[in-house]
Amino acid sequence: MFNGESMLLLHGRIFDGTGEEPVPDGGVWIEGDEIRKVGSSDQFDDVPAEVPRVDVGGRFVMPGLVEPHAHLSYFNASSLQDLDMNCTAEATTIKAVLNARTMLRCGYTSAYSFGSLHAVDVELRNHINSGAVPGPRYVACGRDVLGTAGMIDWNPDHLQLGMDGLALLADNPWEVRKALRKIRKSGADTVKIYLDGEGMVESDLPGELSYTQEEASAAADEGHRRNLRMTCHARSAEAVTMAMKAGMDVIGHANFLDEEALDRLRRERNRIFVTPAIHWQVGLYENGAEFGLTQAVLDSMGYKNEIAETINSVAKMRKAGVRVLPGGDFGLAWTPHGTYARDLQNFVELFDFTPMEALLAATRDAGAMVDFGGKVGTLEAGKFADVLVVDGDPLTDITLLQDQDRIVSVIQGGRFFHNTMPSGPRFDLGVKPGLQAAVEERLFSGADS
Ligand SMILES: [Zn+2]
Repeated sequence: MFNGESMLLLHGRIFDGTGEEPVPDGGVWIEGDEIRKVGSSDQFDDVPAEVPRVDVGGRFVMPGLVEPHAHLSYFNASSLQDLDMNCTAEATTIKAVLNARTMLRCGYTSAYSFGSLHAVDVELRNHINSGAVPGPRYVACGRDVLGTAGMIDWNPDHLQLGMDGLALLADNPWEVRKALRKIRKSGADTVKIYLDGEGMVESDLPGELSYTQEEASAAADEGHRRNLRMTCHARSAEAVTMAMKAGMDVIGHANFLDEEALDRLRRERNRIFVTPAIHWQVGLYENGAEFGLTQAVLDSMGYKNEIAETINSVAKMRKAGVRVLPGGDFGLAWTPHGTYARDLQNFVELFDFTPMEALLAATRDAGAMVDFGGKVGTLEAGKFADVLVVDGDPLTDITLLQDQDRIVSVIQGGRFFHNTMPSGPRFDLGVKPGLQAAVEERLFSGADS
């Protein structure tokens, strides 16, 4: 898809993402957009002389990261009103293009969307695939689907607003099926439906189910017949159970579990993926005060308890063999784009993952979730040549992946998108957080005026 050139990366510390210990002095032979061979540096005598050699100078070489709970069309907004109506579709699209570039620069070569404004995801995916826009390989989501008074149905009835860019409101199984058909028609790969709510949404708190089982099951049935991957927002045990009964493919959050919910997850552990998106809460506590969400306010909304419960739930899911993946709901004001790797740190510090386990979750396991023909997530022969070169050792310090300057090369489909190593061709995607913020500010103030 990206038409890479052939090259041979040599003398790196190769972390292949399979669970094996790194090869201390190894190489990766890339041919076109695929990996042809991975091994120790002295095993590449068979590589033709004309293939360019790139000496990575002992740096850490790993599979491209995968972000499995992405919102590329969200533009660091702090309210549903902003997402829904304070920005034109055109400005949203431009911001999404910038966000895609930022995500790739941060080392994320693939992503799975958890909800899109308008049909931005679909066009973004198409233009990434054609090579016109730098960005992660992208599983594109449609607009969210929810029932009346579901979590993001924010606009009061007396205003008689539509909700055309943010979501499709659908009540009863047949409306739900029609919404799914509209999403299918839009060209999306996946759709997110809301099964319950959120601590900051008084009209739909976690545990207050906003769909019946009949509606959720109709959604999953319709979606699967129409080749859509079924993604849902489910915070409570009741919502997780509903999701599992319906046959959802991916659950966002799963903060609270009871025996039934856990048992259903355990039985389908080889099929289901869970993204707790814990940086939503962590980011709220760190940055929320700026938006009136002080610690006291957040505590009163139940978030403190929710974090503690999520830590318990993740431990239980891991013990049950369920794949729990980093991916922190980035794209809101308190979870800004460009900080994606922070959720890896959360997994280590809050969920007790080793750095190795966190990296495997963000490469091999998240790669299985995005499922681009089984070719994403590890460095092995036949996989897509999505490769990072990193200064330093993320296996001892997972936080260094948050530093763009440490991610010295981003290769996607055998093609350099960024390279600041002395060896190899020089490419600079040129996305610095400050620059991105300046561009966004200009776009956003333009949309307001
Ligand atoms: Zn989300």
